Amino acid sequence: MSLLRKIRETGRVAEDAPPRPAPAASAAARRLGGSVQVRCVDAGSCNGCEIEIAAAFGPVYDAERYGARLVASPRHADLALVTGPVTRNMAEPLRRTVAAMPRPRLVVAVGDCALNCGEFAGGYGVEGAVADVVPVDLKVEGCPPRPDRIVAALRAVTGR
Ligand code: SF4
Repeated sequence: MSLLRKIRETGRVAEDAPPRPAPAASAAARRLGGSVQVRCVDAGSCNGCEIEIAAAFGPVYDAERYGARLVASPRHADLALVTGPVTRNMAEPLRRTVAAMPRPRLVVAVGDCALNCGEFAGGYGVEGAVADVVPVDLKVEGCPPRPDRIVAALRAVTGR
């Protein structure tokens, strides 16, 4: 009973929805409009970006209310959120993950490392940025990007 009382007293913690972002321009995004199933791939990040993605799907930023849902398999996913520079060991798994996703599919590079290798540029174990390994449809800048920017990218796809 104390738990139920606590839930009732706390109420809704999600922030009010910011204005709807401009829709993504790609044809795949238009065909996915409404909702999107999301598979996260850590291709070699420091885990800072993962913490922000977790916050984006947490109760405050609540990406699910805009139609984005995390799934465990690329075969169930419309969209891949890829973080980190792509390490040599993760290049082929990333290619296979994207290849396993049904079409239409989208790849979103999340964080400066995913965009240009960031802090890890030139590292001996780094294959390259995400776009060097798989086609990228959307980019989210930042080190790490704020959760609201990640949510805005997902909303640009879902159109909600
Ligand atoms: S962008 Fe920043 S937080 Fe994200 S993986 Fe790179 S160093 Fe870590």
